[in-house]
Amino acid sequence: MSAERAAPCKHPGAPQEAIVEKVLSIVASLADDRAYLTQRGLSPEEYRHALPAAIEQFRGSRGAGISDRRQFLASVFEEMLSRGLISKLDQPRYGDDNTWSAGVEELRRRTLNRRRESGAFLLGRDEAGAKRILEFVYYDDIDPNALKSGIVHFAGAKLPKLWGICRARGFGVVADVHVHPGGYQQSPSDQADPVIPRAGHLAIIIPHFACRDTKPGGIGLYEYLGNGSWSTHTNQGRAFFNLD
Ligand SMILES: [Zn+2]
Repeated sequence: MSAERAAPCKHPGAPQEAIVEKVLSIVASLADDRAYLTQRGLSPEEYRHALPAAIEQFRGSRGAGISDRRQFLASVFEEMLSRGLISKLDQPRYGDDNTWSAGVEELRRRTLNRRRESGAFLLGRDEAGAKRILEFVYYDDIDPNALKSGIVHFAGAKLPKLWGICRARGFGVVADVHVHPGGYQQSPSDQADPVIPRAGHLAIIIPHFACRDTKPGGIGLYEYLGNGSWSTHTNQGRAFFNLD
C-alpha cells in the first residue's frame, strides 16, 4: 500500500504555487477567448460577471468538512503521546460558545452571499439532563443537492450517512438548524416536515441569512412534540438555549 493510499486523510498535499498560478491564469484568460465562450453559449461579459459567484459556489461545493482532518490529527497526537514523544495533550473543548459561533459563521458562508438558505444537523450528547451541541454537520456535505433550490431540502435517503457519522463520534442528533432570508418564524413546510420527526427534536431557525441575530433571544427555537405539533421556546432565549 502506498503512503498516499495508507493515509486516512483524503487531502493530498497542497499543489505547487506555480501550478496554482497557471490554473488561475487559464481561468482568467478564458474571459478573452470569445470563440471558446460563444461555442458554449456565453458572452465574455457574462463570463466575467459570473466568475466570482461561480468560484464562490465551487468553493462551497468542494469545501470539505474539517472533521476527518481533526480526527486524523487527534489520532496522530494520541499516538505521539502514547509513545512518549509529547508529554501532554490539551484537546479543545467542544460544545462551548465557539462551536456555535463557528458553525453559524460557516452557515452564513454557505448562503453564498445571501443567495440561498443553508442548514445543518447539530450533533451532541445528553449532559446532566440538558443537551450539549458538539458538532455541526452541514446538509450540503451529506446531500450535495440539499441547498440547490435555494430552500433547504434534505433528502431522507441520505440519512444513513448521518447515522454513520453519529455512530463514529458516539453523538446523537440534538437539533437541526437552518437560516432564513427574513424572520425566524417557521414556514408552513418547516412545520409540516420536521427534519427529524421525533418528539423532543429541536429545530432552530436563524433569521436574515445569519448576518444579524444569531444568538438565543434573536433566533427561532422550536421543539417538535410529535403528530405535527410544535412548541415554541423562542422567547425563553438563553433560559432555554444556553451558550456557555
Ligand atoms: Zn425554514
